[in-house]
Amino acid sequence: MLRLTEIKLPLNHDENALTAAILSKLQLMPEQLHSFSVFKRGFDARKKTDIQLIYTLDIDVDNEAALLNTFAKDPHIKPSPDTSYKFVARAPTELTERPVVIGLGPCGLFAGLLLAQMGFKPIILERGKEVRERTKDTFGFWRGKELNPESNVQYGEGGAGTFSDGKLYSQVKDPKHYGRKVMSEFVAAGAPDEIMYVSKPHIGTFKLVAMVEKMRAKIIELGGEIRFSSRVDKLHIDNGQLTGLTLANGEQLHSKHVVLAVGHSARDTFEMLYEQGVYIEAKPFSIGFRIEHEQSMIDECRFGPNAGNPILGAADYKLVHHCSNNRTVYSFCMCPGGTVVAAASEQGRVVTNGMSQYSRHERNANSAIVVGIDPERDYPGHPLAGIALQRQLEEQAFALGGASYHAPAQLIGDFLKGKPSAELGEVKPSYTPGITLTDLSKVLPDFAIAAIREAIPAFDRQIRGFAKADGLLTGVETRTSSPICIKRGSDYQSVNIKGLYPAGEGAGYAGGILSAGIDGIKVAEALALAMLDTVSDT
Ligand code: FAD
Repeated sequence: MLRLTEIKLPLNHDENALTAAILSKLQLMPEQLHSFSVFKRGFDARKKTDIQLIYTLDIDVDNEAALLNTFAKDPHIKPSPDTSYKFVARAPTELTERPVVIGLGPCGLFAGLLLAQMGFKPIILERGKEVRERTKDTFGFWRGKELNPESNVQYGEGGAGTFSDGKLYSQVKDPKHYGRKVMSEFVAAGAPDEIMYVSKPHIGTFKLVAMVEKMRAKIIELGGEIRFSSRVDKLHIDNGQLTGLTLANGEQLHSKHVVLAVGHSARDTFEMLYEQGVYIEAKPFSIGFRIEHEQSMIDECRFGPNAGNPILGAADYKLVHHCSNNRTVYSFCMCPGGTVVAAASEQGRVVTNGMSQYSRHERNANSAIVVGIDPERDYPGHPLAGIALQRQLEEQAFALGGASYHAPAQLIGDFLKGKPSAELGEVKPSYTPGITLTDLSKVLPDFAIAAIREAIPAFDRQIRGFAKADGLLTGVETRTSSPICIKRGSDYQSVNIKGLYPAGEGAGYAGGILSAGIDGIKVAEALALAMLDTVSDT
């Protein structure tokens, strides 16, 4: 197979244009080209009236070696790399111990799946409920019912990304192509095939729910075990070696190999780990608001006359502004055609996030507009001080919203002028159970408010209308990433507790569904190899 990169064709090219482009690029006769497939498809929309699709293609041709020789100097014609996944270990037939995975978010799901596929029959412990039950609790909360602190947007089967936009791209380096393994497992579980080749794949909430169920069935079929409503409350540590766990119901489990994939919202678990002496450091994260505009405005601005083209879908954006107060404001987790969601997992606190369906057909675009903060400047002194700050901001948001889980919100125009909002404009809020119009400057530190006030007009220079007066800000956004890092060594084990494998977003090793899945694979591999070492030592 040969890989051709940077094949550019106009947005609305006809069916045969790809074949013609390959033949022309390689100066081939049609009979020399046996077949081809699209490995990646992106687009360049810098010129709105002339949007180009950019393809990476894998092609099967006559005489590959001669072609490679002819085009030796062309960086866009190379042999296709082998991106298939190869298991690193196989469990012995007689297992003396089963590994445990804590948390069934994308990281725990992939760690569990890989361990099951290698024959290690993992036990997976998830504090929340199975995904259909969890969906009832989460959507119930959004419709005004009580928050269930153990079953919500953050906790339960599928983890934090289940009710999300399901964006599946990441900037992590992936030389071993683990991302392909994640994607192919998702496709096997029912994700659309296109996630294998579009440059910014996404799945959307309802598809994710069904996929998570199928992946659970696969793990169980392979001998794994999944226990819901099983919160881990204590580690058993003997002389720096993990030996087991205690669950909230008092049950004890023995294992010297445990993946800790608890996500960024398991604050009580972080406290437990800290109290038990697991080495933890504070790390930077970001705080801010969700911003909402009409999606049609974003589409028009990004795609001009091509807005609405089904290949392009609903437009997204990515914005960064370095402020005069030495802070950086950026857009995060942009959800085209989606809704702002109530993402609280603790009573008396309000926090926002965003989600969408596969169609991305909702009226509004939303994204987090956040300011980077760090332990040195903003929450010094204690490894868990970032959590205390998150809680304080979320409590302020709860109070400002009226202490009913309504989120405080403000029109962009009023926010920029520093005056409380009293009436909505064209942009209707999508957040449920509801919003309370107010003055958002009270809910974040002054430096963050000043930075966001400077950034929004700067973003308007890139997306005209971004600072439009009736756009909406809803607060607060505090869970962009984990406020801590549970340090691990090159063997993927905690630097001071052997047998504990901190993984995924909560431990500070991933940010997003794809990178959490990739980290789950890496950790499963390290754990499997360590278990085999233990077997051969005995
Ligand atoms: P999590 O998904 O947080 O999973 C951790 C799991 O551990 C949870 O299910 C939790 O219940 C469980 N747990 C915690 N403590 C314990 C305990 N003590 N015992 C047992 N179980 C425990 N990312 C994207 O890439 N694209 C998106 O479009 C996107 N949208 C998002 C939208 C929303 C509303 C949210 C909340 C997040 C979104 N994210 C998105 C972020 C993404 O969900 C996370 O990065 C990802 O889920 C992290 O995976 P994880 O497995 O490390 O942790």
